[in-house]
Amino acid sequence: MVVHKFGGTSVADPVAIRRLIEIVRAARTRDGRGPAVVVSAMSGVTDGLLGVAASAGESKLEEALSRTQQIRERHIAAARELVAGPARETLHAQIDVHIDELTDIIKALSVLREVSPRTLDVVAAIGELLSSRIVAAALTCAGVPAEWIDARQAIVTNDEHTRATPLGKETNERLRSNVRPVLDGGRVPVLGGFVGATVAGHTSTLGRGGSDYSGALVGAGVDASEIQIWTDVDGMLSADPRVIKSPRLVSQLSFAEAAELVYFGAKVLHPSTILPAVERNIPVRILNSWKPDADGTLITGDGSPTRTGLTGLASKRDVTVIDITSTRMLMAYGFLRRVFEVFERFRTAVDMVTTSEVSVSVTVDDARHIDQIVEALSEFAEVSVERHMSLLCAVGDVLQDEPEIAARVVGVLEEVPLRMISQAASRRNITVVLRQADLPHAMERLHEEFFK
Ligand code: ADP
Ligand code: ASP
Ligand code: MG
Repeated sequence: MVVHKFGGTSVADPVAIRRLIEIVRAARTRDGRGPAVVVSAMSGVTDGLLGVAASAGESKLEEALSRTQQIRERHIAAARELVAGPARETLHAQIDVHIDELTDIIKALSVLREVSPRTLDVVAAIGELLSSRIVAAALTCAGVPAEWIDARQAIVTNDEHTRATPLGKETNERLRSNVRPVLDGGRVPVLGGFVGATVAGHTSTLGRGGSDYSGALVGAGVDASEIQIWTDVDGMLSADPRVIKSPRLVSQLSFAEAAELVYFGAKVLHPSTILPAVERNIPVRILNSWKPDADGTLITGDGSPTRTGLTGLASKRDVTVIDITSTRMLMAYGFLRRVFEVFERFRTAVDMVTTSEVSVSVTVDDARHIDQIVEALSEFAEVSVERHMSLLCAVGDVLQDEPEIAARVVGVLEEVPLRMISQAASRRNITVVLRQADLPHAMERLHEEFFK
């Protein structure tokens, strides 16, 4: 039994949802049961909802209401095309329950003029709640018996709203009691991804792109044999197709390689997706919902034993580099602890670290608390900040055995000023920090060298 997660473009409109139905039907025929289905919001809807909340918070009530109306129309139109008979009336009413809730919230926000992360989550979650309702009804109407499951009853998270972390034990218990019986009863459970609720029952979300994570959590919770991520590209590509014109398909890679690539910017998977899969050793497959018969990318514990070169490249833009220098602290123990305590206090993850005798350089992706971090670090060190830098990461298990590949990576970039270079203990990636302006060229050069 497999879990299918469909991304925003794979549920964007009735045409896409009809493709989804055939993919689910085929899996069901093949496996004799399942699959469990996790869906994103229809493409653009999460952005739309966040826009509605922002407008409401600025008291632009008319604008917020008219955008809400557009969101409603889009879902009602899809429901009308996909579902017939009395089920259509029921579905329309369900859509309106969510839209009415949204309308009440934006009216309140426009008076309060303040949008808290907790409220933002209630608004953002509506996209997945709506799409999952539609998909569940559309499957049933097409002869695939499906049951909608409220993701807020299935994924239990901490209270870090807008990027909450699921609580493993509680979530597994809920999945076992809410989702398994539906599968055992021969129906297809359909859940919205991205969405959960705190222990206290407040709606939460897992961070942008978080539906992949939900898919993997469900896969682990129901002991799936495979977690399939259905998206709009052929699989994991050797580089971001928005940066490199014709990247190659990576047909097989290891969990560890995939984790590095997605952590360092390969948006095709949410960075946490791999965790639940690794814990239970469940293979993850990335597939193109426009080409259901293609093999896609298979991610497993072993990866591809026969590969000789790098596996892929990834990059992150708008990274901030912070240099922390202290001659007084020269070689003193406890210095790094003090440095990292500051990042911990402001809940900011550090991506990359390099050190010299008197200085430490780190990169961070999340720049929300930079000013406070700099202020705190300045109490015991000199601090300088460079914004709009990029991080470029070359990944491959092969780096562990073939040292000349690392030399080639740096050699190819000889004309590019590199601000930081690192290879960590896993020896699975080489990461460099460079100016944003140099990124496209550096990517081109590396891709040409290793993937052409
Ligand atoms: P979904 O809505 O299906 O979750 P996303 O937009 O989140 O889809 O992720 C798929 C997109 O990820 C692709 O359209 C592609 O532009 C981007 N992407 C970036 N890096 C990679 C990569 N290395 N391999 C594949 N896709 C990538
Ligand atoms: N709809 C959410 C987003 O746009 C989650 C997802 O699609 O994975 O970020
Ligand atoms: Mg995604």
